[in-house]
Amino acid sequence: MPSLHTNTRVRPALAGFEPYDPAFSVCEVNLSANENTHPLPESVQNAMLDAMRSTPLNRYPDPLANNLRDELAAWHGVQRGNVMVGNGGDEILFNLLFCFGGPGRSLVVCPPCFEEYKIFAKMCETDVVEVWRREPDFSIDADALLEAARGAAIVMITSPNNPTGDLISPALVQRLLDQTDALILLDEAYIEFAKKGSSLVSWVADNPRLMVLRTMSKAFGLAGLRCGYLVANKEIVDVLAAIRQIYSEDVVAQAVATAAVRRRSELEPTLASIVGERKRLCEALGELPDVVLWPSEANFVLARMPHAGDVRARLRDEYSVLVRDFSYAKGLGDCLRITVGTPNENDRLISALRDILQG
Ligand SMILES: *Cc1c(COP(=O)(O)O)cnc(C)c1O
Repeated sequence: MPSLHTNTRVRPALAGFEPYDPAFSVCEVNLSANENTHPLPESVQNAMLDAMRSTPLNRYPDPLANNLRDELAAWHGVQRGNVMVGNGGDEILFNLLFCFGGPGRSLVVCPPCFEEYKIFAKMCETDVVEVWRREPDFSIDADALLEAARGAAIVMITSPNNPTGDLISPALVQRLLDQTDALILLDEAYIEFAKKGSSLVSWVADNPRLMVLRTMSKAFGLAGLRCGYLVANKEIVDVLAAIRQIYSEDVVAQAVATAAVRRRSELEPTLASIVGERKRLCEALGELPDVVLWPSEANFVLARMPHAGDVRARLRDEYSVLVRDFSYAKGLGDCLRITVGTPNENDRLISALRDILQG
């Protein structure tokens, strides 16, 4: 069949992108995507099932998901008008760049960090300025960041960072707010796993340029549902509300997420278990020869080890344990990202790694 030469037909800014491929293989233990691998408490599961059952599917969703917004607003001590719900945090990230990026504007990021920021920026014809984190601790060069942010439309910082696990210092966020005019997005996708008081969501009320992204995909164990949200100044939420895909958040996601948020206190024991397991995992991996770990405030740990790509393949093929390979990524040579799983899953990983690295 003759080629359509789509690369000459597609809008130039969108040529050359490839479908996202998380390189999933079916494994008994999947610690590759930072999901919450614990079953949710039965009371929460039942509440979610009840919510699903009582949701009519023949009616269009409430475009702005106001019931869910009210629940989230009450939780975070803001107004409904300060919350925007999206089909995963990813939709909101895209829409932020769609709204506030564009030709002649730039996004500042601090890699290694979440790749999606850069991909979405490019799709929206937004320049990307990268302020690389310093070796070996992945700390942010504050002066370089401030310098870059002065000319930027928007700055996106992950806290805790994916995949390095560290929080941004509140002092640096304050400097970004004081010394630049950029919009500052703090991506708190993993904040529920960090020590109490680490979230800066309460700063939004007094800082109109600060926006905080959260998601139901990680701590809430609802990655398959597709629900994330932004807490931000009302003027920003209004712009996002006007340009979004009107029905992107479906009725099931709205109903289930609302039930889960109402019962969020019942998730605390699971979160505490994951934080405890993170410590245990780090202690066990730290005893293995030539393994380097970074302190993590999230539900994953970054581990550097010799021949990481081979180790990852053996974990998958011989032990049916899947972790995420970053060994090819700039600044992350020989690094694997390992999600903290249930105690059994972590045992499987630890004993497999012991076999491979000491065997
Ligand atoms: C997982 C993740 C998100 C959001 O994911 P969604 O499933 O789209 O809500 C956002 N930022 C980071 C850094 C993440 O790791």
